[in-house]
Amino acid sequence: MKNLKNAPVRKKVDVVVCGGGPAGIGAALSAADKGLEVALIESRGFLGGNITASYVETCNHYLWDHPFEVTGIYKEIENEYKKEFKKSDDIRSDLRAHRFSSEYLKIFLDEKIKQNNIWLRLHTSAAEAIIEDNQMSGIITHSKSGFEKILGKIVIDCTGDGDVAARAGVPFEKGRDCDGLTQPGTVNFRIAGVDSKKVNQILEEEGIEYFYEILREKLNDGSFDPGFRRIVFPFGRLTEGGQISYINYSNVYKIDSTNADDLTKGEMMGRERVLKMFNFIKENMPGFENCELSSIAPAIGFRDSRRISGQYKLTEEDIDEERMFSDNIAIFPRFYDMLSPTGTWDDHIYIVDLDKQYGIPYRCLLPVDVEQLLVAGRCISSTHKAESSIRAISACMATGQAAGTAAFRALEENCRVKNVDINKLQTELKNDGVQLEK
Ligand SMILES: Cc1cc2nc3c(=O)[nH]c(=O)nc-3n(C[C@H](O)[C@H](O)[C@H](O)COP(=O)(O)OP(=O)(O)OC[C@H]3O[C@@H](n4cnc5c(N)ncnc54)[C@H](O)[C@@H]3O)c2cc1C
Repeated sequence: MKNLKNAPVRKKVDVVVCGGGPAGIGAALSAADKGLEVALIESRGFLGGNITASYVETCNHYLWDHPFEVTGIYKEIENEYKKEFKKSDDIRSDLRAHRFSSEYLKIFLDEKIKQNNIWLRLHTSAAEAIIEDNQMSGIITHSKSGFEKILGKIVIDCTGDGDVAARAGVPFEKGRDCDGLTQPGTVNFRIAGVDSKKVNQILEEEGIEYFYEILREKLNDGSFDPGFRRIVFPFGRLTEGGQISYINYSNVYKIDSTNADDLTKGEMMGRERVLKMFNFIKENMPGFENCELSSIAPAIGFRDSRRISGQYKLTEEDIDEERMFSDNIAIFPRFYDMLSPTGTWDDHIYIVDLDKQYGIPYRCLLPVDVEQLLVAGRCISSTHKAESSIRAISACMATGQAAGTAAFRALEENCRVKNVDINKLQTELKNDGVQLEK
C-alpha cells in the first residue's frame, strides 16, 4: 500500500475548509470575501450539508414571528435566495417561516462559490490531517483521484462530525454524559401527488396539530407502531404541484454517525421506517390518499456526534443565564431542541425562549492541543445539552463565518489563530453585519 505521506499536492491555499454544510459555507464565504485563497472540500456531490442532503429546509422555524433576527452571512444568503427563488414554490399558509428548496439551494450555492472564486472539490473527503509538532498544515483527501494533499496555512473543520480534529488528535466527547447516546439520526422523505388545496385548507383552519392528532390516536390505540415513540411529524413546503418537500419522522436510535457500520445500519433501518410512515400517512391522512413516495433524502441526517474539546466549553448554564463573553463571536437565542436519544419521548427537550440570548465565545472554536486548526458548526466545544442549541443551522453558519474571519485576522496579523486580536476580530464581524451584543 502506498504511503499517504507521498500523496501528491493537489492544491496550496491560505485556508482549507473541510465540509460544505452551513458552517463550511459561512467559513468559506467569509474567508474568500476577505481576499483569502480558499479550498472547500465536500464529500458529497453538492453543498448545503443537512439542508440539502437531509431535506432540512425550514432552518429558522422557531424564530418565526419573533423580533430576534439572525445576522451575518445566513441573513445575506436568505435574502439573496429569496430574491431569486421567492418562497421556493411553497403555498403553505399556516407557518410563514422561510423554507429553502434543497434543490434550488444546491444551484444557488454553486453560483455563490463561483462568484467568490472558491476552489471547490466535491466528491472528496478529508481523510487525514497533515500535522507536525501539533501544527496543522493541510489535509489528505480521498476521492476518485486517489489520495491527494491540500495544503493550507489554516484548516477549518466544518465536517459536522469533527472528522479533521479527531484525525489530528484533538480530544472530543460524544453523546450525553450518562450513556454516550446522541440524538437520533433521521431519514427524511418527500412525497408527491398530495391534494394541496385540501391539505392547505386543513393547515389554515386547524393547523398541523390536526395531522399530529391522527398520528397520536393511532400510536395510542396501538394500530400504528413505528418502533419508537415520536408524536409529531413536521413537514415542509407544500406546492401547487402536490409535493410535500419533506416529512421529518423516520428516526433511528443509538446510531453513531462517525461509525460506518452504524451509518449503513441507520440508512437501511431509516428507509424501512420511511416506507412504514409513508403507508401510514397515505392510509390515514385526508388529502394524502393518492400520494406517492417521490424521494428519500440522499443521506441520513444527524444532529450531533463529536464535540471537540476546546479552550472553552459552552454549557447550558451559560445559555440559561444569558452569559455574554469578552470574546463573543455570535449571539443566539435560548433555544434547545434535543430529540429523545432513546426513542421514548420522555427525554425530549424543546425550549423556545427567544427573549433570552447568549454569546458564543471564540474559544469554543479553538481546539486544545492543535495549532492552526479552527472548528465550526455543530461539533464546536460544548456540553451535550448546549449543543442542542448551537446546532441550529443559522448558529452553525455564524460560527463558520467567525472562523473564516478569524483565519483572515490571523494571516493579517501573522499570528496563530489562538492569538488573534479579539477586538479586531469582533470589529471585522460587526462591520460585516454580525450582531455581537443583545
Ligand atoms: C432531520 C433533521 C432536522 C433538523 N432540523 C433542524 C431545524 O429545523 N433547524 C435547524 O436549525 N437545525 C436543524 N437540524 C440540525 C442541523 O441540520 C445541523 O445541526 C446543521 O446542519 C449542522 O451544520 P454543520 O455545517 O455543522 O454540519 P452538516 O450540516 O452536517 O454539514 C457537514 C458537511 O460536511 C460534509 N462532510 C462530512 N465529513 C466530511 C469529510 N470528512 N470530508 C469532507 N466533507 C465532509 C458533509 O457532507 C456535509 O456537507 C436538523 C437536523 C436533522 C438531521
